Amino acid sequence: MLDSYGRKISYLRVGVTDFCNLRCVYCMPPEGVPPRSHGEILRFEEIERVVRVATRLGIDKVRLTGGEPLVRRGIVDLVRIIAGIPGIDDLALTTNGTKLAEMASGLKAAGLRRVNISLDSLKPERFKEITRGGDLGQVWRGIEAARREGLTPIKLNVVIMRGVNDDEMAEFAGLTISQDLHIRFIELMSLGRESWHGLRHVPSSELKMRLEDAPEGGLAGRPLEAVPGQDGDGPARYYRFAGAQGTIGFISAVSDHFCHSCNRLRLTPGGKLRSCLLSNGESDLLGPLRRGMTDAELEAFLARAIAEKPAKQGTGAALEDWLRENPSARFMSQIGG
Ligand code: SAM
Ligand code: SF4
Repeated sequence: MLDSYGRKISYLRVGVTDFCNLRCVYCMPPEGVPPRSHGEILRFEEIERVVRVATRLGIDKVRLTGGEPLVRRGIVDLVRIIAGIPGIDDLALTTNGTKLAEMASGLKAAGLRRVNISLDSLKPERFKEITRGGDLGQVWRGIEAARREGLTPIKLNVVIMRGVNDDEMAEFAGLTISQDLHIRFIELMSLGRESWHGLRHVPSSELKMRLEDAPEGGLAGRPLEAVPGQDGDGPARYYRFAGAQGTIGFISAVSDHFCHSCNRLRLTPGGKLRSCLLSNGESDLLGPLRRGMTDAELEAFLARAIAEKPAKQGTGAALEDWLRENPSARFMSQIGG
C-alpha cells in the first residue's frame, strides 16, 4: 500500500521482547528495562495475525528485533510461523549474536533468511565495557555459525561513538576486504540517554571522510565506490572499497534523514503500532486484538497507520530537540530498533 506521500510500505519490524541479555550503554540502563508480565506482550498468535493481515496491504518483508529477539522463549517457533505466511518473501532478524552459535541452525531450518548482528568493538575488553558484560568471542562464534548456515548476507551493525570506538572504524571496514561481511556504521541517537550522547555523536559524513583517508585495515589507496540501490529502500547508503568482497553502509538518522524512502511500520513488544521510529504517533493494537477485533477491522487499523505515516522527522538540532522534549522517546529496545 502507498502512504499519503507515495511511499510503498512493504516492511514490518516486529519487536518480540524488550528484554536483553546485554546492557549496551547507549541502549539500556544498567538495570535493564522494567519487567513486563506475559499478558503485557503480544502472543505469537497475535503477531501471526497482524503479519498475515498486513500482507493484504503489501507487507512482504518482516524483521524480528527487540530487545534481544533470541531471548524470547519459543522464538524459533515464531520464525517458523511467520516464514509460513503466504506473501512473506523475506524474514530477517536483528540480534546481538550472543545466542546465535547455538541457535543459527534451528533458525535457518525454521525459515529465517538472514541476520543483522550488532557489534561495536573488535576488542574484547572494550566490547565488554560497551555491552556491560558481553563476550566478544561468543558473538564471533555466532557470526561464524550464521555464515555456515547461510543466514546471509550478514550485516554487522556498528554504532560509532566518539572517543569510545571511533578509532576502530578502519579495522571494521577492513573486514569487508577479504570477507563477505557488510558493515553498517550507525549514527548514535539520543533515545533514552540525551545527556551522554551529544558528545559521542559522529556524523556519517565525517566517518566517510575519515575512512577514505585511512591507511589501516588494508584500505590505503583504495577508492570508496558508491553501490547503488542495495537493500531496496533501506536507510543505509552503501559503498565498497575497490576489490572488496563486502560493503560499507552509513545509517545517518541524526544528520541526514532518510524519511523520503522509509518503507516500514513497527510493532512493539507491547503491541503498539508505530509508523515512525522518531515521532509520537503510535496506536495500541494489543487491547483491540484482545477485545475481539475482526480481520477486516485489523486491516483498516493497519491501513490507517500507513495513511497517517508522517512525511518526515526533523534531523540534526531539530531532531535533538524533539528527542529531549518527548517523553515517548523511549529506549530503542522498547521500540524495536
Ligand atoms: N538486540 C538486538 C541487537 O542489538 O542487534 C536487536 C535490538 S537493538 C535495539 C537494534 C539496533 O539498534 C542495534 O543495532 C543497536 O546498536 C541499535 N541501537 C540501539 N540504541 C541505539 C541508539 N541510541 N542509537 C543508535 N542505534 C541504537
Ligand atoms: Fe540489547 Fe541490542 Fe540494546 Fe544492546 S543494542 S542492549 S544487545 S537490545
